[in-house]
Formats: sequence, C-alpha cells, structure tokens
Amino acid sequence: MTPLISPQAAIMFSGHNTNTFRFTEQELTQVDIIDLKKESCQYWQGIGEGKHRLRRGILKLEPIIMSDLKSDINTTSLLQSLRLDESSDDAKTVLGLVEEAMELAKPKAMFKEAFIDETGNDYVVIDGFRFKSRVLRVNLSEVHRVFPYVVTAGRELEEWSSGIDGMLEQYWADQIKEFILGTAYNDFIARLTAAYGLGTTASMNPGSLEDWPISEQRKLFSLIGDPLQGIGVELTDSCLMVPAKSISGIRYATEITYENCQLCSRENCPNRRAPYDPLLWEQRYK
Ligand code: SF4
Repeated sequence: MTPLISPQAAIMFSGHNTNTFRFTEQELTQVDIIDLKKESCQYWQGIGEGKHRLRRGILKLEPIIMSDLKSDINTTSLLQSLRLDESSDDAKTVLGLVEEAMELAKPKAMFKEAFIDETGNDYVVIDGFRFKSRVLRVNLSEVHRVFPYVVTAGRELEEWSSGIDGMLEQYWADQIKEFILGTAYNDFIARLTAAYGLGTTASMNPGSLEDWPISEQRKLFSLIGDPLQGIGVELTDSCLMVPAKSISGIRYATEITYENCQLCSRENCPNRRAPYDPLLWEQRYK
C-alpha cells in the first residue's frame, strides 16, 4: 500500500526544552505504528507535547491528499446498468469511451483528521467549525475524532466528457465517471479505515438531508483546507461541487449502522443504499 502520509505532512514544533521535534501526523495519532524501543526519551516527550497541543487545538493537523486512488471499472456491471447487450454496437462504443476515460482518469481525495471540540443539542464544533445538524450531533455522540473529506473523479475526466458529442454518448460518459468515482471512493474508504484502524465506519454528507443543509458545505471545505488548490474541487454559489462527480462528507468510526438513505423518503432513487425507515427519526434523533 502507498504510504498515507506524505513527507510534506510532517509537523514541526518546539518541545519542552530547546529541542525542535519533527513528527508525522501518523506518529502523533497512531503511536502503535512506531517501534517503541528505538526512540529516545526526548522523542516521547515531544510526542506527548504534540498530542497535548492537538487536544487543546493549538496544533492543527494538515490535510492529506491521496492522488493515486483506484479508477478501474467493472465493464460488465457498467453495461448492465446501461442495459446494453455486450455484443451490441452501442456496447463497443461504451467500451471505447471507457478506454479513453481510463487513460485520463486521476481520481483524488483530500481529507484530514479532526477532533470534536464541543457539542450542543443540534450542533457539533469540529476543529473550531460549528456544524448545525441534530442527526450529525447524535451520530457523533460516541466519537471524538472524525475525518472530513472530499473525493473527486477529477477535472481530467470532466474536461474529457465536456468534449463528447451526442446526448447518448454524453450520458454514457456521465455513467463512466460515476463508476470511476464509486471505485475511487471505495478505495479511499478502505485505505482510510486501514491506516487509522477505524473498524466499521459511516459517513454524513451536507445536503443529503434537510437536517444538514447543503450551505454547510462551505464550512466543511474550510475545515478540510483548500480542496480547490489541493485536488481541484470548488463550490459554486449554491454550494454544489465542481467537478460534479465528487463526494464530500464527514467519516467516523461507529458500531451503529447508518446511511442517510434511512432518513430519506425519496421514492425511486437510483442511488438508494438503505431502505427508508419512517420510525428512525422518532426513535433515535428526536
Ligand atoms: S435515497 Fe437517494 S436522495 Fe435519499 S439520501 Fe439516499 S441517495 Fe440521497
């Protein structure tokens, strides 16, 4: 697996004495990954100081970029979802488009490790940013650490698809981008979960529920850092993401299964991941 932490993500600060320490984010948050016997007493004093500063919010962790996410496509599933016979001319055209897309695709993710400062009845403060959502507040009641993120299929694919003529071909290109985003997102989740030893995780996304409006995307982006500079994702005036084939949210470790779809009554949604539970709001969030 490619290392999660890049050298640029290292943090420097002065420790108790006049010594200057240099640690990676992983060292400050996952002590178990380093060889305990190798390190000096001063090193451990520095680690302690770093953790203390993180808890008090004096030290903020830098965002991390993954620029080598998987982008492969299961073409059988793609053709099935497009209702195309594998031997048809349309299928050949789609496979040609897949080839083009795969050559250009550079999906990326940007995320950071963040900590909950404060909670209220219907809000959560994460690294100084106040998010207003009762569902988010309840879902995060057992955790202290979260992972705000943006994953994108990338601008390269957006530019590629904007040059495609024909309504049908544009639709196929759109579905190809959707599949690439899905693969990249799953890869991001798998690598994040493995790197931080998270176990079962769930995600919440601003704009997917009335309880957490899309306008909160701005705060989410600010919390992560600068996704435009980092991975080329920006927000429109109405807080939609460009490129559109991007996913943003807050990921967290949890024992309780949660999907936004459980609270969403929209009928015939092609992306539904869990059945609507009309009693859940009353039972868990009221
Ligand atoms: S059912 Fe569809 S619209 Fe509703 S939260 Fe799930 S994916 Fe979003």
